Amino acid sequence: MKDWSARAAALYDKGFRPMFVDGKWCAAASGEVFEARNPADGSLLATVPKGGAADIDAAVTAARRAFEGPWARWTPFERQALLLRIAERFEAEWQDLCLSDTLDMGMPISRVLANSRRVLGMLRFYAGQAVALHGATIPNSFPGEILSQTLREPVGVVGAIIPWNAPIAGSVWKIAPALATGCTIVLKPSEEASLTVLMIARLMAEAGLPEGVLNIVTGLGSEAGAALAMHPGVDKIVFTGSTATGQSIARAATGTLKRVSLELGGKSPVIVCRDADIDKAVPVAAMSVFANSGQICIAGSRLFVAREIHDEFVRRVAEYARNLRTGPGIDPETEIGPIISGRQADRIGRFVQAGRDEGAELVTGGTRLEGPGHAGGHFIAPTVFAGVRDDMTIAREEIFGPVISAMPFDDLDEVVRRANDTPYGLAAGVFTTHLGTAHKLARRLRAGNVWINMYHAIDPAVPFGGVKMSGYGREGGIEHLDEYLETKAVWINTD
Ligand code: NAD
Repeated sequence: MKDWSARAAALYDKGFRPMFVDGKWCAAASGEVFEARNPADGSLLATVPKGGAADIDAAVTAARRAFEGPWARWTPFERQALLLRIAERFEAEWQDLCLSDTLDMGMPISRVLANSRRVLGMLRFYAGQAVALHGATIPNSFPGEILSQTLREPVGVVGAIIPWNAPIAGSVWKIAPALATGCTIVLKPSEEASLTVLMIARLMAEAGLPEGVLNIVTGLGSEAGAALAMHPGVDKIVFTGSTATGQSIARAATGTLKRVSLELGGKSPVIVCRDADIDKAVPVAAMSVFANSGQICIAGSRLFVAREIHDEFVRRVAEYARNLRTGPGIDPETEIGPIISGRQADRIGRFVQAGRDEGAELVTGGTRLEGPGHAGGHFIAPTVFAGVRDDMTIAREEIFGPVISAMPFDDLDEVVRRANDTPYGLAAGVFTTHLGTAHKLARRLRAGNVWINMYHAIDPAVPFGGVKMSGYGREGGIEHLDEYLETKAVWINTD
């Protein structure tokens, strides 16, 4: 088993890591910095510029200049070749890239290595799409020789704002379609996890990205993020994060009527039917929440189990939870890493307390983990509540932590109604061996993604996104490109 500690010690030296604007590495205009700390042990990794409105302005200006400059004349085939070179640079430094994520935001290295491979697929998928973009020639009602056609044009300068829970995939899913369509981009990573995104900028620059096409401004959401959302030079905001922040971004964008797409929070139901294959369903249902310590937008945190099998199923999920190995992410044996920050761990603790206070039964977990392997970090034991009612706080609010709320159900109509009774609509999971039930629930569940007898499947070629207060717009698939394109109608009188 590989020991990552020596490599980890060499990756970050507590020094200053500049941000990337107009092809140059720079400090914030204010000279201010903030700290990047390892959530597994609290150690300092690096300091990072605390960018603000002036830095956002410089980055947007650079992105606009690039958008109107030579980048606009790059052919789709040149953009495709760039994306393929970027994928090669990523592969060459793949282990450091993954390790950076583990150090900066805590996801276990085994999981980053396995999950983030799809990022290479993303880069190659969008490389393919770059040369497949096209408009249409459309018949019209005018007499004579009037030609009408559509052009698909880049939306312009894209402002991207991302959360901390998956920096590699989260940033590439914004950058790759921008490069494929010929947009330029200013990206603000989360203040909780900026380091990997800065590494990504370096790899992209080394692959031949022209100046100003990609700009990374590190900083706080309330400062750099808010400035980006309001900036009149930004044509489109692509945002992933909480629903509350998404609402404030949508409000900020109305001033300039810039386009917005939002990938927001969730409170996703997982439904285990009486006829489910229980042996297969238990680990998948458990990991639908516990993966990444529950810090996943699609966490299947409301577990509805058919009453006949409820007690047995919950007992087995709890047993599975107790056997998960928690610890620092650089240990290859670790299955569950730390929570991103003490603040977030406290927030999860308050939800656990609310579950108890409102009368749910704590079956396992619910405690902060300390001592060997957890010292200095923010660890919470995988937690299962039973006896949860639909109106309890833990059944309604997104916890973004390793907490399952289990509830029995009696029939399909009832469970569909209860599963849909949430402001969110990001994902849903169903376990059944009955084909008709699978199809029926897939149709009736109000969610952007429904997984049957599986969970978590995300692919560059398949659209992903939410309905209701989980946001609007899609990432992945050819639908994603629509978010970065405008359609222009061109009329030509050929008489
Ligand atoms: P967050 O909303 O607190 O922050 C997300 C980003 O927005 C960060 O970069 C932050 O700095 C920035 N931000 C904060 N306030 C801002 C403001 N006023 N204006 C502009 N930018 C601002 O979310 P988080 O805690 O980093 O991430 C967790 C949330 O993200 C959860 O709700 C989770 O469900 C959601 N999420 C959704 C998806 C999805 O695809 N639907 C994926 C991952 C995470």
